[in-house]
Amino acid sequence: MQAGLFVWRSFMPIQKNQIHRLEITDLNSDGNGVGKIDGFVVFVPMTAVGDLIEAKIVKVLKQYAFGIVERILSLSPDRIDNDCPVYRQCGGCSLRHIRYEAELDIKRRQVEACFRRIGGIDLTVERILSNPHTEGYRNKAQFPVALRDGKAVAGFYAKRSHRVVPCGDCRLQSPAFAPLVRVILDFIDEYHLPPYDETNHTGLIRNLYLREAPATGEIMVCLVATKKHIPSADELARRLVACNPKVKSVLVNRNSQKTNVILGDRCSVVWGKPVIHDVLRGVDVELSPLSFYQVNSLQAERLYDLAEEYAHLTGEETLVDLYCGAGTIGLSMAGKAKRVIGVEIIPVAVEDARRSAQRNGVRNAEFLCADAKEAARSLAQQGLRPDVVIVDPPRKGCDASVLQSICEMAPQRIVMISCNPATAARDCGLLQQQGYRVEEVAAADLFSRTLHVECVISLVKETISER
Ligand code: SAH
Repeated sequence: MQAGLFVWRSFMPIQKNQIHRLEITDLNSDGNGVGKIDGFVVFVPMTAVGDLIEAKIVKVLKQYAFGIVERILSLSPDRIDNDCPVYRQCGGCSLRHIRYEAELDIKRRQVEACFRRIGGIDLTVERILSNPHTEGYRNKAQFPVALRDGKAVAGFYAKRSHRVVPCGDCRLQSPAFAPLVRVILDFIDEYHLPPYDETNHTGLIRNLYLREAPATGEIMVCLVATKKHIPSADELARRLVACNPKVKSVLVNRNSQKTNVILGDRCSVVWGKPVIHDVLRGVDVELSPLSFYQVNSLQAERLYDLAEEYAHLTGEETLVDLYCGAGTIGLSMAGKAKRVIGVEIIPVAVEDARRSAQRNGVRNAEFLCADAKEAARSLAQQGLRPDVVIVDPPRKGCDASVLQSICEMAPQRIVMISCNPATAARDCGLLQQQGYRVEEVAAADLFSRTLHVECVISLVKETISER
């Protein structure tokens, strides 16, 4: 042990505060550039593959070190101007300094690497759905409000802190939001409404929360406040509608708790409707502030198109849609299946799904409010034998027992949609052991400029002769 420690120390090629010449040869899953000094790995944030830099070493650990760019010697051909004033503080757009084609390539390789390393499945991601709108694609924005030099500001929390970086006009968000945020901030100043101070738990206005339905253009503006009402809210609504007549709903959400959670569970309507409407793959969808909805719904449509292609529906199938949220996937495929069963744990989302089914005249879809684990087990025990199971789990992926129950139901096809390729790879690895073969993995860019990537996987039940 002692000798090992000695060997490690004596071979450590670098020390803190040294400056080293470094070529960036890869990007890790956190978006940091990777370079090597005498074989020792150094991570440098905000770099691109092909950069030649002088890096200042800021932290040395046993297996690797961290550096920062001291000087750029020559720029990677993948680099572009990051064109955002808060790019460094905010940390959301980890890939904003990289050409979009290179970004797609990074995402494709990230998915492949997860499947190889975690799932033990060697494959090539042939298809990646590129995002036609790499800016302004987010249909939802949430900004904490704070006081800065006596004026209200809205923006983002700086990385690993609760200090608000003013930025009410994030480039990823719908361009409709920034003018409305300006109206609200001016109103807060004019009417002397105190922004919330989380240290002392005082003040009124906590967050601004905006949603836009891309298909209809309808906008919802919600102020998250410590009280149920805010003074002169009618006047605020009048100004918001004057600023943009597409504003159809102005709400106050009450959150009086000492918590990091943004929304409380009660909303009151100040003006207009309690919900706005969107259309996703032909399904009329109601959006309330509390309901889950894909933040890039236009790309989500293309992702679900691919999921439908992988489902091979002919109109005769029983389709189980696990982790169904407000049911959009199943409802949009119900016309091509015999029966749809959706499963979701959040009661409000299940109510949304049932209402949506009625509003859209879908009669062959039913929704169960249950933990996917319990529901899958009970459906399997009841002897349900669906033809297709679609799973769209949260980042942590599927519980192993959910996968087990799916295998007991023995569908011909499984379609997995995932916002986390690492857990998707793990789960597909387990399904492969249970007799399913990964037929194709596609990636979809729903979150351009950020490191996040979505993927959709087609799995098919192997026939005995195949195994
Ligand atoms: N398919 C939906 C939602 C996907 S997000 C859509 O495309 O809109 C994942 C969903 O899984 C969320 O709605 C979340 O509430 C739900 N969920 C999380 N854990 C769950 C569990 N254990 N059982 C059932 N649903 C769960």
